Amino acid sequence: MATSEDRQGSLAERWAQRRAETQFQFTQAARLNAMGELAVTLAHELNQPLAAITSYAAAAHRLAARGDPEMADLLRKLGDQAARAAEIVNRVREGAHRGEVATAAWPLHELVAEAIDLAMADIARESVVLHYDFRQRAPEVLADRVQLQQVIVNLVRNALEAMAASPWRELRVGATADGSDMVRVHVIDSGPGIASSLADRLFEPFVTDKPQGMGLGLSISRAIVEAHGGRLWCERASGGGAAFYFTLPSAPAERPAPQTTAFPHATARLRPAGP
Ligand code: ADP
Repeated sequence: MATSEDRQGSLAERWAQRRAETQFQFTQAARLNAMGELAVTLAHELNQPLAAITSYAAAAHRLAARGDPEMADLLRKLGDQAARAAEIVNRVREGAHRGEVATAAWPLHELVAEAIDLAMADIARESVVLHYDFRQRAPEVLADRVQLQQVIVNLVRNALEAMAASPWRELRVGATADGSDMVRVHVIDSGPGIASSLADRLFEPFVTDKPQGMGLGLSISRAIVEAHGGRLWCERASGGGAAFYFTLPSAPAERPAPQTTAFPHATARLRPAGP
């Protein structure tokens, strides 16, 4: 039978555990806020040089268009990427102001192809066998284009990094219908799979096993997917690699007007960026 000393002992233990948990949550929240502030400051600072790169690239493209077509093409790509970086940076700033996502109907296969181009921009395409699993014409999804592409880029970059040391690198990206009103996207690699020491905490912020990793990609990706009304999770692929899945609402045949929904991420608590 439990004595009153036993009961007091276990009460004290429970209190100590509660205190430790609360302290941990405070520390995590403080770190997230500090990261958010850093992101907003960076976004603000990067805006000007990116705008300058975009306009220099446009001017160089005009000059090159009169001569070397290959150079003109490279300059056009340079300009496109700088404009895209500026768009991402502006979204960070806007997100900090409003804490919202702006959704519209987008063809999923186009969005995925663009994101894969970005994620693979600095690696040799032929070093990876890439399968697009879009059975029929992929559906349109209701999404914030830039944020959704960030999710795909994060998942594809992680997959490429996980497979870096593998002699055989295979990546499957595609989508299937998930019920009548959702679409399920998959990113499946042939790497070593998720380290068992990380599996339980994979989607928590600051969980990483990479020397230069921030451990934020998956937690941010999950927040983005959930803000869209979907889910993001990970399974073990049949070949042993990692299989990431996420769901998104498919766009109804009748297009809705662009709408915004609350984005439940830490950015909502940030101080507003400068002008
Ligand atoms: P980071 O890439 O900065 O480490 P993430 O949140 O994107 O942050 O990923 C957290 C961790 O999850 C990674 O450090 C890695 O250990 C693991 N991980 C993510 N994707 C994969 C994958 N495709 N295969 C194996 N491990 C992965």
